Amino acid sequence: MLHTYRFLRLKRILYIYTFFKKAGVPALVFLFCTMISNRELFLRLVAQTSDDPMMVEVERAEGVYLYGPDGKSYLDMISGIAVSNVGHCAPEVVLAVQQQAEKYMHTMVYGEFVLAPQVQLAEKLAGLLGDRLDNIYFVNSGSEAVEGALKLAKKFTGRSEIITFHKSYHGSTHGALSVTGTTSLREGYGPFLEQVLFLNFNSGSDLLKITDQTACVIVEPIQGEAGVVEGFPCFLLALRERCTATETLLIFDEIQTGFGRTGSLFAHYRYGVQPDILLLAKSMGGGMPIGAFISRKEIMQVLTNNPVLGHITTFGGNPVTCAAGLASLNKIIDEDLVAKVPAKEQLIRQLLDHPKILELRGRGLMFAVEVGGFEQALKVVKRCKNMGLITDWFLNCDSAIRLAPPLIISEDELEEGLRILVQAIEEEC
Ligand code: PMP
Repeated sequence: MLHTYRFLRLKRILYIYTFFKKAGVPALVFLFCTMISNRELFLRLVAQTSDDPMMVEVERAEGVYLYGPDGKSYLDMISGIAVSNVGHCAPEVVLAVQQQAEKYMHTMVYGEFVLAPQVQLAEKLAGLLGDRLDNIYFVNSGSEAVEGALKLAKKFTGRSEIITFHKSYHGSTHGALSVTGTTSLREGYGPFLEQVLFLNFNSGSDLLKITDQTACVIVEPIQGEAGVVEGFPCFLLALRERCTATETLLIFDEIQTGFGRTGSLFAHYRYGVQPDILLLAKSMGGGMPIGAFISRKEIMQVLTNNPVLGHITTFGGNPVTCAAGLASLNKIIDEDLVAKVPAKEQLIRQLLDHPKILELRGRGLMFAVEVGGFEQALKVVKRCKNMGLITDWFLNCDSAIRLAPPLIISEDELEEGLRILVQAIEEEC
């Protein structure tokens, strides 16, 4: 296959060269014209997920900015989708990665060797999460955390029914997609896990469908991809009560809301509701790929027997990504980044109070800016990009613009970004 490709490409170059030579074009100009750009190779060789990728070519990134090879800078208002909470290439994270990479990288599959960065990150997280969430299984991504949690709940309860919510998003792997309520993403990929029940988010009466047959309920305290839809505090409390009454495990997917995004270190702090299993990923690694499902020892214990190795992963808990995760978490705490979120949230509310913005939904630094339709949203995102601002829409709400800047963004930088956004909305909507 590759040989055929190379042969065809060589043939094409020879053909163009003959053409250029006949036209008297110098060899250097010919060489320049036949160089394949990274953009071209990206489209040709890297598997695509849409016909219209953003195509921002990144040469380097620092703080809240991305820089292209042409020197153009982009203010990142989405943090690589809620990942770069501590900014791009935070020096503390880069140093931790460098230092750990020099000591050791992968040594053994998850769960066999004692690795200091893994243990230290577990200790730090357990200290922050309390004694019902003190046993941590490290994985590589959000979807994997979901997969692990679903298996854990089924094994621990001995039940097989799983309850989830309409419009939710929990990931793209088979199990995660089975409990994802974003119907458009499921088309063509069924059949899915059996015995999955979808309830209406924020519907108190639907909670009665949780019974003693239910292994677990998986919920995002704030539905991210639905366009930042908050769970009502009373709904989340009632959900907790119903799960306790039916001995159903409550899983909070905080993959997007974790690590300060909503103005508290974890969103469940805000509601005073503690889940039985907590899912983390995205910003957990300060830009490195890591995730986790977290529960208490008594529950986690079921993965160790009948069968032994009930959930295994090669790279989960990789020492370099754990070192990055610890450095990122320390930075969030040491610099009190969460305490600085409310003032920034206020600035967003103030500067986006605009007649062309139909609704502003959000909490902390996680917002959906409603502009009324996909056409408008698309035009605004493209206009922003041309003006050096990265925004996006949502997987299950294409009429709104996504805002999720790094927590380290200064008020001046945030103001600059919001002014560009407002200008784009005024021009395009
Ligand atoms: N859960 C939520 C709430 C998410 O936002 C995402 C990613 N958008 C996932 C799960 C899946 O995470 P990943 O893409 O790392 O698999």
